[in-house]
Amino acid sequence: MGLSPLIFGQVWAEKMIKKAAILVLAIGLLLSVVSPVSTHAQTELAILESSATAEFPTQLSFSLSTESALNITDIRLHYRVERDSFARVTSEAHIEFTPDTSVTASWSWDMRKTGSLPSGSIVEYWWSVADAGGNRVSTAPATVRFDDARYLWQSLAEGELTLYWYQGDDSFAREIMAAAQDALARLAEDTGAHLTKPVRLYIYASAQELRGAMIFPQEWAGGVAYTGYGVIAIGIAPNNLWWGKRATVHELAHLVTHQMTFNPYNSLPNWLNEGLSMYAEGELEAIYINYLEQGVAENSFISVRSLASPFSAFAGQTYLAYAQSYSLVEFLIDSYGQDKMYELLGTFKQGSSYDGALMRVYGFDMDGLDGLWRDWVALKY
Ligand SMILES: [Zn+2]
Repeated sequence: MGLSPLIFGQVWAEKMIKKAAILVLAIGLLLSVVSPVSTHAQTELAILESSATAEFPTQLSFSLSTESALNITDIRLHYRVERDSFARVTSEAHIEFTPDTSVTASWSWDMRKTGSLPSGSIVEYWWSVADAGGNRVSTAPATVRFDDARYLWQSLAEGELTLYWYQGDDSFAREIMAAAQDALARLAEDTGAHLTKPVRLYIYASAQELRGAMIFPQEWAGGVAYTGYGVIAIGIAPNNLWWGKRATVHELAHLVTHQMTFNPYNSLPNWLNEGLSMYAEGELEAIYINYLEQGVAENSFISVRSLASPFSAFAGQTYLAYAQSYSLVEFLIDSYGQDKMYELLGTFKQGSSYDGALMRVYGFDMDGLDGLWRDWVALKY
């Protein structure tokens, strides 16, 4: 069966193209082989290329290619994460490879071993390389953003807050932004506390998808504040907006509190930290009011001193602990005003002890607060 002229013509043309391509490739190879030899013969140790790729949430991969006239004997990656810290920690990874004059190296940060970073984290990194002649070079520091690129994020920014979301329309995002801005305004008015640094809020479309962004998710996690990173991740289905706005405000207030009080010496008493977040949410929900009423009726409150520690120690009493925290903050703001609360936060920022800060600002310690608050709450409920 003979080929028709048309098909024959096409085959011939393809052959010609292939030949041409091979020729171009050959010239290319020749150039790439020849040119480095002629220049690199006198050239010092050099880093030719460096890059980083994020595979959220498990891995951040770095790669490098380097050449020298002498064998390359040592390659290290230096990296650090941008976050609030008083001791700036730089990590170092020694790369294993076979010494050669040309080396392509790579290294992966496996977050399943170290715990993950939140989406949007910025990692600064640089390489240092040495050859057998004792020459050493480093790349200039570069940054890579560890973004959750599995979703197509839209964004909305106002003031220090940027909101990222991928499900729901513009009005969904605007409603959450409005709730957040209202809460920030209320916090500033009642406590003087405000954001001093940018905050990024990532809204996943469900609690399940939020957990998919975490390596070791906790079953209950509906929202997480990564205070040191200025990041909040939260799962809000568009039909769960009422809960979503409260949860957003709660976590956002944790970032405000963190920014206002972060210091290398001491943390905040938990009742103050959680109480401010509960207070920012607005009116106390009925279930918490029930706990306060029951506490008054049965005289079954937890001591302020105990509430200074993490609440997990009080299994089964979590609701009461949160209700009391809200009420303690409300008591301090209602009785002593915005100025004193602002002063209290400022005193904690200096690293003050729990009793010391209260004494200095209000003239009573945690036990004194406990007594005054119990009288106040008994009248209220
Ligand atoms: Zn909280």
